[in-house]
Amino acid sequence: MENLNESIWNPCLEYLQELLGKEVCFTWFKPTRLIAVDGNAAVIGVPNNFVANWMREHYSTTIDDALKAITGRDWSHRFEIHQIKRSDDHAAGNNGSGHVVRKAPSAVAPIPVDKARSVPPPRPTADRRASASLNCRYTFNNFVVGQSNQLAHAAAVAASKQPGEERHNPLFIYGTVGLGKTHLAQAIGNALVSQRTDAKVLYVTSEDFTNHFIRALSNGTTAEFTDRYRSVDVLLIDDIQFLAGKESTQEQFFHTFNALHQQRKQIVLTGDRAPKEIRGLEERLLSRFQWGLPVDIHQPDFETRMAILRKKLEQEHTTLSDEVLGYIARAGNGNIRELEGALNRLLAATALEGKEITLETAQELLRDSLTLRSRPITIPRIIAVVSDLYAVPKEAILSKRRTQSVALARHTCMYLARTLTNLSLKAVGAEFGGKDHSTVIHAVNTIRDSIGHDAHLRSLVEQAQAMLCGNSVDNGR
Ligand code: ADP
Ligand code: MG
Repeated sequence: MENLNESIWNPCLEYLQELLGKEVCFTWFKPTRLIAVDGNAAVIGVPNNFVANWMREHYSTTIDDALKAITGRDWSHRFEIHQIKRSDDHAAGNNGSGHVVRKAPSAVAPIPVDKARSVPPPRPTADRRASASLNCRYTFNNFVVGQSNQLAHAAAVAASKQPGEERHNPLFIYGTVGLGKTHLAQAIGNALVSQRTDAKVLYVTSEDFTNHFIRALSNGTTAEFTDRYRSVDVLLIDDIQFLAGKESTQEQFFHTFNALHQQRKQIVLTGDRAPKEIRGLEERLLSRFQWGLPVDIHQPDFETRMAILRKKLEQEHTTLSDEVLGYIARAGNGNIRELEGALNRLLAATALEGKEITLETAQELLRDSLTLRSRPITIPRIIAVVSDLYAVPKEAILSKRRTQSVALARHTCMYLARTLTNLSLKAVGAEFGGKDHSTVIHAVNTIRDSIGHDAHLRSLVEQAQAMLCGNSVDNGR
């Protein structure tokens, strides 16, 4: 195993450090080891489930890229919980050359991550879930019900129990970003997949739908496309507002909608606003969206935010004091994704450094992300927020480094600066090391174009906007 680390993993860590920056690498990759190689799969040892989940969500592709870059062949990887001895941990520090190096892993028997979870999902359900594009994290069980989402939750449960019923078909769930629309839509799918083995469920974003359609057009496979979407029992389409302005996709969706509705198949849609307020969608679609049940989700009140935080802690099998939870819940603006982000940062600090989180530590760790919001939008604030969200250090954003992740973070900062402040191109360029106006225009256009087709990037940019513009509530700031 020592050999594996020396010959493969340590060079990968150097590669990752170059790509992601020292801070990220130190935070997430410091406690990792390559504990085995199983065919083409690398088994990576991580200290706990929290780190495993985080790595899976944020760094999966990057890890495969690193393995490929170092060994020249394709890999898959999986994580296993692996206890690192204290002595190992010290050895896993910085070797003075700026590179993270580690000794051989300890001989503690690894516990596969899935076994460490309380109830592993039965295989067939997991397969059906995967082919429906559902994430098992989003269930009704994990959803905290409060005043703000009671109606939407009840409607979603009803749709999962009696799919296709006229009174909730289509079910249209709407509200601003980060309030649980995707969670509810997916929970309907997950409930159906696990309760009805014969139900054919499909979750797609409206972007996926558009891309599939465009691909079908160019490949001459529209018949397969039509068949795929019209043969499902339950169609969940997320963020329908992104069909705005795409006329031929709307036309296609209109026929899909009609075909499914006529067969009493359940359609669930989400959007960022009420159907009648969406611009750029055909009237005949908007009126259909109102046939069934449009329900909205509001910003959660303080009690619901606390309950959500407690639920997340329960899932991670950990606790934080009420004082600390209260601080996070008060400082947030109601966007649950942001609340989760804050909680994750604290949990990362506890998991990795074994620190107990006091109110002071929480304030210190979350200062940039939570409190900046109540102040005017400035470039340093934008950089702080983006650095946090993209996990790219501020210094890297301000440097001349051109690695993809750093350039993306830098371009996002310029885009936000131009869209959220009155600063001129020249002033924005000056803040980023004297870049000229054409560089700023290029950065802004790049992000504007990319968020049109890259849902992940758009969600990051929206989160940054929400963090910068959100109104803080309840905390008197
Ligand atoms: P939206 O689609 O409205 O932008 P999401 O469904 O992606 O929001 O929710 C953002 C995050 O907040 C997700 O991780 C989701 O699990 C979590 N979340 C939202 N509402 C709740 C809730 N009521 N209980 C627990 N978690 C929630
Ligand atoms: Mg969503």
